[in-house]
Amino acid sequence: MELVTDEKIRLKVLRSILRGDGFKLDSWVRCIHCGGVFQGKEMRVFNKGDDYLIYCYYPECSGSIIDIVDADDEDFASMFGY
Ligand SMILES: [Zn+2]
Repeated sequence: MELVTDEKIRLKVLRSILRGDGFKLDSWVRCIHCGGVFQGKEMRVFNKGDDYLIYCYYPECSGSIIDIVDADDEDFASMFGY
């Protein structure tokens, strides 16, 4: 499994996988695995064979797309100064 660092591919993959779960690149999401909050576009993208997998923003966390819930209702944007 390799980390995808090409920003074009990364965002393309993220956009399509996130859309499947009803999220956008700028959706605020919470990882129920570690409790971390970040934006959809900040998730890590891995290439595995013909497949792409996306994981929690935090490298020490093994949370994946199935551990991601909507955090848009929570007021994180102002908390982080966005
Ligand atoms: Zn996590």
